[in-house]
Amino acid sequence: MRRLPVYFVLDCSESMAGEKIQKMESGVAYIIQQLKKDPQALESVYFSIITFAGISRTLSPLLEISYFYPPKLPLGGGTSLGLALQNLMKDIDVNTVKTTFEKKGDWKPIVYLWTDGRPTDNVDEAIQRWNKNYESKVDLIAIGIGEQPDLAVLKRLTATVLHFENSNSKDFNKFINWISTSISIQSKSIDKKTDNTELIIDESILKIIKEPPSLLKDDTCLTFVGRCQTTSRPYLLKYEKNNKRLVTKDMNLSIDSFIFEGCYILDESYFEWSDPRSFNNSVNSSSLIGGASCPHCSANSAFAVCACGKLLCLNVPGPALCPWCDKNILFEDGNESEEGSFNVRSGRG
Ligand SMILES: [Zn+2]
Ligand SMILES: [Zn+2]
Repeated sequence: MRRLPVYFVLDCSESMAGEKIQKMESGVAYIIQQLKKDPQALESVYFSIITFAGISRTLSPLLEISYFYPPKLPLGGGTSLGLALQNLMKDIDVNTVKTTFEKKGDWKPIVYLWTDGRPTDNVDEAIQRWNKNYESKVDLIAIGIGEQPDLAVLKRLTATVLHFENSNSKDFNKFINWISTSISIQSKSIDKKTDNTELIIDESILKIIKEPPSLLKDDTCLTFVGRCQTTSRPYLLKYEKNNKRLVTKDMNLSIDSFIFEGCYILDESYFEWSDPRSFNNSVNSSSLIGGASCPHCSANSAFAVCACGKLLCLNVPGPALCPWCDKNILFEDGNESEEGSFNVRSGRG
């Protein structure tokens, strides 16, 4: 039996924190569940999940669909697409069977790459290697998600670049259905002895990218990692860009501010999955609107900054112990309007 290897290469960078990653997780679970009901897919599809944030790992190695259970997706800082591609190429080399004179190998592997941001590592070498050795032997479908995927970099990898921009649940469900149907169709058409299957694209939800925009949009999301003073456990604060303009009789200003979106509990694996180099943005706190209480201990603020530059939670002004550097600090009951603003390093997802 010739296998049809299907890879999902998923971006689990911190901009995915919260609802997005939950949707992705349940979407993948749904796709697996649907394929398990499809006799043709059950017979031929072998499935694997590779994820990437600051690092990249194979979360689920290539396995026949009936034995496949969707994993919990990690979250980390950074979007190391270059590493993800190197990892994917290695996995294809090691785990798929090539056709030789003696025997028929696997069917042409299919890769669905999902990413919602721009790479934070160098992708040139990986793209060159891909184009030279893999492009003709693998079907790569690259899907940019949300408002600021780097469609130009995806276009350098494959002719098939799609953009899924909508965030409402109805369209997301359509999108997930589209993927599971596409894999079903792909698994049926392998019998026709053609290695090239036509992808039917639902253009009501997916935009086919022919000419990617040359200019990337500015960052639309900022993230900050803090630790709870009481439990030392980490959390992530996420802010989204507020694209408002202030228009009066004599001025027309764009207000560069970020509005609080959510505060999420992290586990320590976040640091394992993060590339520290991706935290290179310095942001002034005055451009951030809103905040949250600590998701671990409910202290009033999750946004107190130690002299070491890291965030911690703080209930009331006064002495505190930094869970990052173990130093005692004193937070004064200051007049925030004058000296309250400070610079803090953020990740850009
Ligand atoms: Zn706390
Ligand atoms: Zn500190």
